[in-house]
Amino acid sequence: MPLSEQPVATAVIRSRRVVLPDGERPADVLVRDGKIEQIAAHGSLLVGDAHLTDLGEVALLPGLVDTHVHVNEPGRTEWEGFATATRAAAAGGVTTVIDMPLNSIPPTTTVDGLDAKRKIAEGQAWVDLGFWGGAIPGNTGDLEPLHEAGVFGFKSFLAPSGVDEFPHVEGADLEAALTEQARIGALAIIHAEDPAVLEAAPQRPGTHYRDFLASRPDDAESAAVARLLDTARRTGARVHILHVSSAAVLPLLAQARADGVQVTAETCPHYLTLAAEEVPDGDTAFKCCPPIRDESNRDLLWAALAAGEFVAIVSDHSPSTPDLKLLQKYGGSGDFAKAWGGIASLQLGLPAIWTEARKRGHSLSDVVRWMSAGPASLVGLTGTKGAIAVGHDADLVAFDPDGVFSVDPDALHHRNPVTPYAGKTLTGTVQTTWLRGRVVDVDAEPFGRQILRTR
Ligand SMILES: [Zn+2]
Repeated sequence: MPLSEQPVATAVIRSRRVVLPDGERPADVLVRDGKIEQIAAHGSLLVGDAHLTDLGEVALLPGLVDTHVHVNEPGRTEWEGFATATRAAAAGGVTTVIDMPLNSIPPTTTVDGLDAKRKIAEGQAWVDLGFWGGAIPGNTGDLEPLHEAGVFGFKSFLAPSGVDEFPHVEGADLEAALTEQARIGALAIIHAEDPAVLEAAPQRPGTHYRDFLASRPDDAESAAVARLLDTARRTGARVHILHVSSAAVLPLLAQARADGVQVTAETCPHYLTLAAEEVPDGDTAFKCCPPIRDESNRDLLWAALAAGEFVAIVSDHSPSTPDLKLLQKYGGSGDFAKAWGGIASLQLGLPAIWTEARKRGHSLSDVVRWMSAGPASLVGLTGTKGAIAVGHDADLVAFDPDGVFSVDPDALHHRNPVTPYAGKTLTGTVQTTWLRGRVVDVDAEPFGRQILRTR
């Protein structure tokens, strides 16, 4: 019997700081058969034959749900693979990963592409794993079969994606994709940058971060979001804006919501914790699209988070090999225009956000809402994931909110030792991760399951 099917010992996990949906308090959590069976007053559960873990002042959080991860396998496994990505996830307190449909070859734009991924991921996932599909020009007929096969929705790009096998959609293609997704009830998730604005922006290749930032202006995001919202209004599609970097899109989202458009948005740890002012010239570990912007913009993103305008903070973990990043440390040119765009941070999202959130007066409950409950609701997993609640999967994280560590890229589990957080001191350490009641050991056999859309 595979480990994932074997019974799990009954356990009581006790902490002075259990983060529940209605706030943080001392509690005992009883776990049986991989589910949370009971939540009781701290110290009140008779342990009997159960295994007791007393965390003391270390907090107990629900496992994080990261709905934006580029695993890249098969096809570009040298960038990242299922084993390395899901080990990094588990070590970072993430217990559910939803994989993006591109950078793997084939992309997840057909049922065959999905099957290829599911087959190769079998037996190498340390956390639970689901899949997004992709909507590209010409695959409208593939969307319903993919939806039926259990993908959580469909990603499209409004500007070139960076890989040839995943072209972007414009005009009639966008209209067709959203019309079909409205018909079948799928969630459209969108990379919103406008190709015309990008083309018109000043292009000065080189090592200066300011030049790169000028080549991907705020207008590129707001123009694309405006166009998308128009199409969503017309087609009735449910849309989700991926990795919002520019606060300029926030008023557009608010207006669309007021008009009854079904739109949600996410942002990422790098937009909330890093800033253009601190990006060293030539350090292409910081390159991503849309780009990390100024501190003043970052403050506006935090204000929007506090106001509930983002449903989720997710990693957009999108690594590549160090040579494609053109890192100077590895003999590369450090040219921001030519380097692969993507931030590797799957293992670091929780401490990165907690470090900054705490400084800004936010609680662990806020972090859990943004990184666990919110993303779970985005993909329809509320009820099994995203909360410490009776009947939910016992996906749990022991998190020391006062633990401090310095980021050593070589000590991270993702495949290539590249991250913009290298050398940073972060607050908050993941001590133990449980998946369906069982402690995850990244050096032992994996027992993550593949999960499919249920509604
Ligand atoms: Zn992405």
